[in-house]
Amino acid sequence: MSVLTIGGIGCRELADRFGTPLCVYDEKKVIEQAGAAVKNFRSDMFDTEVAYASKAFSSVYLFRLLAAEGLGFDVVSGGELYGAMKAGVDMKKVYFHGNNKSDEEIEMALDAGVGYFVIDNVMECGRLVKLADARGRRVKALLRINPGISAHTHEYIMTSKPDSKFGIYIENREHIGQVIDELADSAGVELAGFHSHIGSQIVDVSSFEKALETMIGFLADMKRERGLDGMELSIGGGFGIKYVEADHPVSLGDMCADMISCAERAASEKGVKIAKLITEPGRAMVGEAGYMLYTIGDMKKSGDKNYIFVDGGMSDNIRPALYGAEYTAVLPERMDESPAVSYCVAGKNCESGDVIIADISLPEVKTGDLLAVLSTGAYGYSMASNYNRLGRPAVVFVRDGEARLVIKRETYADMYSLETEGRV
Ligand SMILES: *Cc1c(COP(=O)(O)O)cnc(C)c1O
Repeated sequence: MSVLTIGGIGCRELADRFGTPLCVYDEKKVIEQAGAAVKNFRSDMFDTEVAYASKAFSSVYLFRLLAAEGLGFDVVSGGELYGAMKAGVDMKKVYFHGNNKSDEEIEMALDAGVGYFVIDNVMECGRLVKLADARGRRVKALLRINPGISAHTHEYIMTSKPDSKFGIYIENREHIGQVIDELADSAGVELAGFHSHIGSQIVDVSSFEKALETMIGFLADMKRERGLDGMELSIGGGFGIKYVEADHPVSLGDMCADMISCAERAASEKGVKIAKLITEPGRAMVGEAGYMLYTIGDMKKSGDKNYIFVDGGMSDNIRPALYGAEYTAVLPERMDESPAVSYCVAGKNCESGDVIIADISLPEVKTGDLLAVLSTGAYGYSMASNYNRLGRPAVVFVRDGEARLVIKRETYADMYSLETEGRV
């Protein structure tokens, strides 16, 4: 009988050892993605860096794995920065993103010696300069630009609308100029370059090419108007992965190679010197390496629907409820059986929208069967909550037949451990 193994261990053994619901990472797949990105994102014309966007999934163990592959890291909060510090990664390769960083977070990052702040807006720039100058710290900054392009899956859309939450609109030369002027006067904060990020789950290269051409055109403007040259440019993340049969993303390695040639070409054409090109994959680094193992409990027919209930739900995977994300799943112990019945896979959270897969054909399911939902490694655990006081799952990394518990299952006591007052 054919069964699904992850990193050389069968799913039943993993479930017996660690319980369900269980987040399982195939460690080798993570390392391979990191290697493909680093290997292909190289140029003879400029320096390069691949920074993992840690919001997709972060843990000290993963930080260390990826640091060993030569990656840098994006963090967007004190909490993510704390994990990177705990992991002991090279702080020079950390990029502190996010809008509305608090003074405390800025101070924490300055004291930790992060390499880069990615400035979102004029007010943040003022606060950063004040705090860095007061502390006598020197730090590099990238200014986040909204290039007026947004992309999702196949298409990029040129939006002329300057109303994004993130960054400063590319045509808003007044605010961009304010940041440049303020940093020119700052002893502590050096404007090293610019940043843009156009979307997520982008499956072909044309959107990235458009973003690169636009941003390198912007660098040419900055050279002409401001005398700035030899800037660094981060082009963000957003590389798509395969969730369901219909998805056909270009591989991360190929995307990286294409972006390098596009950037080299555009820089030559527009006569600008790029000091360093940075990319920030999140989802593509960990998404397909992750599996969510559930045990199937009760089943029922409701109207036309055959529900199968799993022992987790939107509290460990909010993406279907949040934005209609689609997944596929398999019965890991019954891989050679043909699909026979259409099911709706629902969780145990108290919301009608608590559905993991709205419609999937599987062999006839029995209570107690394992279900493995595929490509759950990104934005699953990292968006998990304690809704309905379900504990968050355990996280296991598996490689060459060895399983390593990286994050423990959250207990009832854990969930109540922050409460300080019970007397009434
Ligand atoms: C979310 C984000 C990323 C990573 O996006 P993925 O779709 O996970 O690759 C990279 N950079 C920035 C600024 C982001 O906000």
